[in-house]
Order: sequence, then structure tokens, then C-alpha cells
Amino acid sequence: MTERIPTRIIETIDPGKPKRLTPAKEGGPIHTRSFSGLFRNLRLLGAGLLFILFFGTAWLDWNGRQAVLWDLGAGQFHIFGSTFWPQDFILLSAILIIAAFGLFFISVLAGRVWCGYACPQSTWTWIFMWAEKITEGDRNQRIKLDAAPWSLNKLLRRGAKHAIWLGVSLVTAVAFVSYFTPVRELVAGLLTLDAELGPTIWVALFATATYLNAGWLREQVCLHMCPYSRFQSVMFDSDTLNVAYDAARGESRGPRKKDSDYRVEGLGDCIDCTMCVQVCPTGIDIRDGLQLDCISCGACVDACDEVMDKMGYARGLVRYASERSLEGKKIRLLRPRLMGYGLVLIVMIGAFIWALGERSLVSLDVTRDRTLYRENSAGQIENMYLLKVINKSQQVQRYSVGLQGAQFTLQGPSELTLAPGEISDVPYSVALVEPSRAASTHEIHFTIMNPNDRSAHDSVSSTFISPARY
Ligand code: SF4
Ligand code: SF4
Repeated sequence: MTERIPTRIIETIDPGKPKRLTPAKEGGPIHTRSFSGLFRNLRLLGAGLLFILFFGTAWLDWNGRQAVLWDLGAGQFHIFGSTFWPQDFILLSAILIIAAFGLFFISVLAGRVWCGYACPQSTWTWIFMWAEKITEGDRNQRIKLDAAPWSLNKLLRRGAKHAIWLGVSLVTAVAFVSYFTPVRELVAGLLTLDAELGPTIWVALFATATYLNAGWLREQVCLHMCPYSRFQSVMFDSDTLNVAYDAARGESRGPRKKDSDYRVEGLGDCIDCTMCVQVCPTGIDIRDGLQLDCISCGACVDACDEVMDKMGYARGLVRYASERSLEGKKIRLLRPRLMGYGLVLIVMIGAFIWALGERSLVSLDVTRDRTLYRENSAGQIENMYLLKVINKSQQVQRYSVGLQGAQFTLQGPSELTLAPGEISDVPYSVALVEPSRAASTHEIHFTIMNPNDRSAHDSVSSTFISPARY
């Protein structure tokens, strides 16, 4: 027999048809029912890949160091064979902008699929729900356990659930923090209670956030805290795919015998079993229409398809559909908004790849000494500079340092050898050998390059000051 959700009649639009409050609107805990189906399997696949990436990447090594590591102390971001420095911040910003446009593109195409299938908040919430199921049982058992007075059985089940939640939160926090602190050091330190205070505090904070977000707050994060859920609906158009209930086919809803001639009774395909509501992680009724709370997870699609199979009806009463397709019209793929986002995305990715290829693997910074000028032993006017050179490559580099302009000479080492990632501050002096009467300030250009590596070059302008008589 089909189990009903706890209901409360709030209003009667049609005297013969009382309207129920959904779990979301009742404000109590949402007890989701287990289900199976295509979209659940797709989500498991997505979550599996996400986990392998998230938990596995931190343990990968590359050239003797952690392959992906954001070394905040040194201001370096290592990602496999490349190291990004604060000077490359623009490239990291570009990655975020590309990700944002990617999300816009996906949102126009298929609504909130990111939320339903890949968002860490949803993914970890599914894991926590699974922990709930194996410790406290499926939906009916959990509802009973909630209502039951405290007993040893309830204490043990609740305790086991929270132990798994805390365990998952801790492992997640360690994996996250290990992208900022070498993972082996961090894990060894935590296991021997000898970890540094900073990373330990971050692990504790992140574990607490995971435990609260995925265990207690759940859909409240999606509904009230996530900024994306607030503005994503403005990106939708009438061809965006969303999870939708086909009201034309489903109404009037109502129970019936399996092989009854329900059309004659004026009923549609919806048997009003509420399975779509019972599996919904945000506790809404998709039959009320497209809602801000829907994360497009497809759970109700799977649940309803299963019901349709049992009833011998065609699948797809609840399905991924656009507003136009529900009206029986064809979905338009080539539409201005989608093409606009797609075009911006392609241009941004192209520009990023170009900028990455052109990125110089040496950085030069020049600071002029605060003294105005001085006269050297040859009677020439001289200015002092400090050159800061960073070898941003993964190899030892030998650079030539030079100065453009025939009227100046550069005094200091003409060649520098730097180890991978080394930062070197080297003082230089520049002398004016061809005095000019016209100017007391001159623009000069320092250059640095490795003649054997065309990606290792940089140039920086500075100012040379001489007395007016020159
Ligand atoms: S699962 Fe399908 S048949 Fe059951 S109430 Fe939902 S829409 Fe109707
Ligand atoms: S209505 Fe359906 S698709 Fe939307 S959140 Fe609920 S179960 Fe997922």
C-alpha cells in the first residue's frame, strides 16, 4: 500500500480536492524515501568522479612535490607542471570567469543540473542521507524513530548516524585543507597530534561547516544561502530544460484501480501517490509547477517513472522538459541567449589558452633607490636600482640582464642563475654616458631573458633622474 506523507489541509480551492502542505512548507525535517532509476545512477556516477578527483588529486605527486597545492605562505599555486605566482592572478581570475560563464551556459541549457548532480552541497547531502538510511532505516522507520521516545535503540542509531556524519566531515575537511598544506605532513601531524595550529583550526572549521551544512541545514543552504539559486531563474528561457510535471497529461489526479478505465472517470495519469514528493530532497511537490526550491536532481522523475511502469502507463509524466516542449512545440537549441553565453565562453577559453601560452616564466620587478642620483668615479651621473627576479619555471634558468638605450650603461651581474621558484634581489647601477641637456628624467627599460627559452623573458620600465644641467 502506498504510504502517505503527513498532511495538513490548509485551504480548499476545489471543495472536492484538499490541498496538502509539502514537507518543505510544513517546516519539519524532510524524510526522503529511497528510490532507483536512471537519474540516480547518473548522479552516483557524477559523485563517484567528483570524489575520485577531490580525494585522490591531493595525493598525487609531480616532480617530487604535491601535484596540486596552493602554498599560501610562498604565494605559489602549483598545478602539475605549472606554478602560478601572484603576478599570474589575472589568469586565475580568468578561470573563475570562465567557470561562471560555463555555469550560465549550462543554466540556460538545462536549468539547475549543476545543483542536482555536481554541487558539493547536494552531493554531500546525498551521502549524509545514505548514512541516515543505513543507521536509522528508510523513510517510514525514520519517521517512527523521530516520534519514538528516547531508548537504547534510538540512542545507538542516532549515535551511529552522527558518528558517520562526523567521520565524513573530518575526511572531507582534511582533503580540502590538504590543497593548502602538504597532505602527507597534514595527515601525519593529525594522526600523531602534532599538526600545526593553523591547519588544525581550518580542518576543525571546515569539518564543522560540512557537518552542519550537509547534516542539518541541507536544503536550507540551497533555498536561503546559495546566491546562485537566487539569480539563476533570470537566466532561464522558455526552452530551458527543467524538471516539470506534465499537468495536461496528469490532471485530474487521483487514485484508481490498476486496470481501470480511468479516463472515463475523468482522471489523468497522476495517481496522486505522492512518491515524487517523498523522494524530493527539498521537500517540494513538483506538481505545483516550477519552483525556486527545485534543484533539478531528477529524483521525482525516477520515482514517477517507476510508478508509471507499475501502472502500465508511459513514462515521463514528470520529466526534464522545457516550457515550449510541454506545449507540444519543438525545443530551439540555437537561441540568442544560449549562443551569446556559448560565444563568450569560447572567446574566454581561447583567450585563456593564448595567455597561458604567452605567460612569461620569469618575472622582473625594478625598484629605484630613493636617493636622487650620485656621481661615480668616472664623473657620470648614476642611479641605483634593485632588481627582483623570480624564476617561475620548474627548471634552473640562466638569464641575461640588459638595459635598452645607448646613452646608459648597466653595472652589475650581466647573467643570473636561479633555481626553480627562486626569488633573487640584485642591486644594479645605471650610469648616464651621453648627457642630455633637454631632460632631467629619462625612461629606461630593463630586460631579462633566457636566450634558450623563449617563454622566459620580461622587461620593465623605470625612471632615471639626472640634474638639470645634464
Ligand atoms: S509520482 Fe507521479 S503519479 Fe505519483 S503523485 Fe507524483 S506525479 Fe503523480
Ligand atoms: S522537485 Fe524533483 S527535481 Fe526538483 S528537487 Fe524535488 S525531486 Fe529534485
